[in-house]
Amino acid sequence: MDKETVNKYLAEQMGLCWHEWFVVRDEPPFRVYECKRCKDGPIINPGDNLDLFSPEGFVKLWDWVIKEGMGDDFIEHTWQSLVQDHFKPDWIDFQLGIRPDLVNPSKLAPEIYSYLKQKD
Ligand SMILES: [Zn+2]
Repeated sequence: MDKETVNKYLAEQMGLCWHEWFVVRDEPPFRVYECKRCKDGPIINPGDNLDLFSPEGFVKLWDWVIKEGMGDDFIEHTWQSLVQDHFKPDWIDFQLGIRPDLVNPSKLAPEIYSYLKQKD
């Protein structure tokens, strides 16, 4: 799975719009955009959609997982992956459980993606 597939799917699960900006007015030096999907805008510099592989995205993703009450179930899923030996996260400690300080942002998003896809 590629990064965009994971980002887009998770953004939708999190109730965020995966913005598709288009130009509504082109008035040099400004270009004014609006989102095709949620109609957000008009805005001059819309920026990129949230990258859940970044440290900022990781924090939002992790907050969402906990807020949705998926924490225990996700940890259970992660344990099972560990047992099946296809995923060995260094943030799982046998005594302490999840070690947020060791969570790798680039690994959390794909793992939550596969966790949610499995439940679909
Ligand atoms: Zn949007």
